[in-house]
Amino acid sequence: MHTIGRFAPSPSGRMHLGNVLCALLAWLSARKQGGQYLLRIEDLDTMRCPRSYAELILDDLHWLGLDWDGEILYQSERTTVYERYESMLRDKGLLYPCFCSRAALHAASAPHLSDGRVVYAGTCRDLTPDEVAERRKTRAPAIRVRVPDEEICFTDGVFGVYCENLSDACGDFIIRRSDGVFAYQLSVVVDDALSGVTEVVRGADLISSTPRQIWLHRLFGFMPPAFVHIPLLCDHDGRRLSKRDDDLDLGLLRQRFAPEQIIGALACAAGLTDSPEPVAADGLIAGFSWEKIPRRDLLLPDAFY
Ligand code: GLU
Repeated sequence: MHTIGRFAPSPSGRMHLGNVLCALLAWLSARKQGGQYLLRIEDLDTMRCPRSYAELILDDLHWLGLDWDGEILYQSERTTVYERYESMLRDKGLLYPCFCSRAALHAASAPHLSDGRVVYAGTCRDLTPDEVAERRKTRAPAIRVRVPDEEICFTDGVFGVYCENLSDACGDFIIRRSDGVFAYQLSVVVDDALSGVTEVVRGADLISSTPRQIWLHRLFGFMPPAFVHIPLLCDHDGRRLSKRDDDLDLGLLRQRFAPEQIIGALACAAGLTDSPEPVAADGLIAGFSWEKIPRRDLLLPDAFY
């Protein structure tokens, strides 16, 4: 099968090292297999994701030597496509409006999972039509999809078999926010499938989204892609890097380093090379293998402290 990989950044800020590592590994995997590498800008929330940030991401990828194939997809332009799939779920009787506020969701007695996620307690699952009409007068609802009491398993390219029971692990989840913006879980499935993506590479922080996405793929009649979740970068204290660590965003890193230095340091941290010597991205293709990537957090290379 011809490999189609992708990188799907959310342009809510400049790329940080974790995003660069993800872009690099997805690119190496696709290129090693002689496949394509697509770029999708996940700018559904146009308030948080201005076009200027997306342009910086394109410029940063170019600077890093990571080229992509074909047209760039902007999720902000695809609302009518997502609406078709929303209708499909509605026709199956799987959708309902949810009027819960964020505060109410957190206060609900639903169990909190160890990673801080809240399982939806089902508060709005069985509202009567009259109750819905009454609540609509004061509040626009989010749209949730009813999940089955079903275990969904997949074999991750780095972490191995991963299973989750949808109703225990997340409960009914939001596919469209109350302001009309589609949720990541729906858009990512529709776009990966319609673009023909066969391999999804992304950070391990998203592994718990994958069972929901596989379930949606199947509901829509798509064949789910292969999934590879990559370990997260953390510092010497075991703290995972996040977008808040803006001292490690590419705007500043580009002033301190050449692209080959960043790529070389990340490749070594990820187990692809033995030393953090500078190397161009395409110099890593031949030696790339998922088997080299460890199943644990990766240590931020010393050069970046
Ligand atoms: N847009 C997400 C991010 O920037 C990645 C989503 C995905 O790869 O599925 O973290």
